[in-house]
Amino acid sequence: MDTFSHALWGKALFGYKKYLYLPLVFGAAPDLLPFIPNLFYKLINGNFSYGRPSISSIPDWVFLIYDFSHSLITGTFLVLVLFFCKKKYLSFAALAWPFHSILDSVSHSRDFFGTKIFWPLSDYKFDGVSWGQPEVWFTNIILLIIIFYIRRPVPLIIAWTPLLSKLLKKNKKL
Ligand SMILES: [Zn+2]
Repeated sequence: MDTFSHALWGKALFGYKKYLYLPLVFGAAPDLLPFIPNLFYKLINGNFSYGRPSISSIPDWVFLIYDFSHSLITGTFLVLVLFFCKKKYLSFAALAWPFHSILDSVSHSRDFFGTKIFWPLSDYKFDGVSWGQPEVWFTNIILLIIIFYIRRPVPLIIAWTPLLSKLLKKNKKL
């Protein structure tokens, strides 16, 4: 999936307990780790270009960081470390990281940045349907809209209702 959608998925699923916006970062982190250094590398070397790069033009170290950051083992390890360090809410927010791995494993074809979900234990890649396909990308957007709609902040009138009922009870007693 694209990095922006990953950030939104992080917020949609894990951004409502204490850390409201950090899941955006956790959701995008597996892509940011390999691709931000690669962006600077390309800028320094003067070969920056827009669009989908050819696989052969991408340095090996980018794939190494990509495999590390996209392994379900890395994300799960991070979540467990935070959980056992008594950072309960932070570990919940960090679930956006392993979710990124799961989402990428089904939304990338094996040939272009396929996700080695069990790296370094195995190089297995599930041959998913590329997120660039319109049916995948639009389904992604529709699902995100539905989740954000369900999770929308409570309308003000409902938030005030308990307060209103308390006030009414007080008035009856008088
Ligand atoms: Zn990714």
